Amino acid sequence: KSGFISIVGRPNVGKSTLLNKIIGHKISIVTNKAQTTRNNIRGILTEPEYQLVFVDTPGIHTSKNQIDRFMNSSAMRSMKEVDVVVFMAPADETIGKNDLFILNELSKKTDVKKILVISKADIVNKEKLFLKANEWSTYQDIFDEIIIASSTENINIDKLIETIVGFL
Ligand code: GDP
Ligand code: MG
Repeated sequence: KSGFISIVGRPNVGKSTLLNKIIGHKISIVTNKAQTTRNNIRGILTEPEYQLVFVDTPGIHTSKNQIDRFMNSSAMRSMKEVDVVVFMAPADETIGKNDLFILNELSKKTDVKKILVISKADIVNKEKLFLKANEWSTYQDIFDEIIIASSTENINIDKLIETIVGFL
């Protein structure tokens, strides 16, 4: 099995950290400064049973004035070329207009599998995590799977990979 997977979401949600965790070494730049990943970065995970090519994208962000201008074209483009899109949003932040913009784009895509990763699960308590998952359930129809994960604490990273492989 093999496939291409794009990791998308607004800046700072943990996209590059996830790719690093999956690939196992620092291939992508991780920082709390927004927009550090300037171009799409690829990481390849090769196992006996599968090969996954991940595309780490710059954060997609909208502008009050001209959404189209400010949204990130390379990230948007990457969603067209892949088998699976992993959309990330952190457990400790509210669902904002940038998320809604990406959700709207994702909802139009019928030819890719879509996974919502609620990231940074380690930084909120169980009650907050439950509330966040509940909040996201409004959008569950857009997604083929929803996974609550943490890259730094290695929560559900294996499950994410299994889910991706299952979709190929
Ligand atoms: P990106 O802009 O979406 O690529 O986000 P980064 O991967 O660069 O991460 C942004 C910040 O969030 C960095 O300071 C990371 O260390 C932090 N971060 C990423 N994943 C996690 C996680 O699972 N848990 C916690 N606590 N912090 C995380
Ligand atoms: Mg990044």
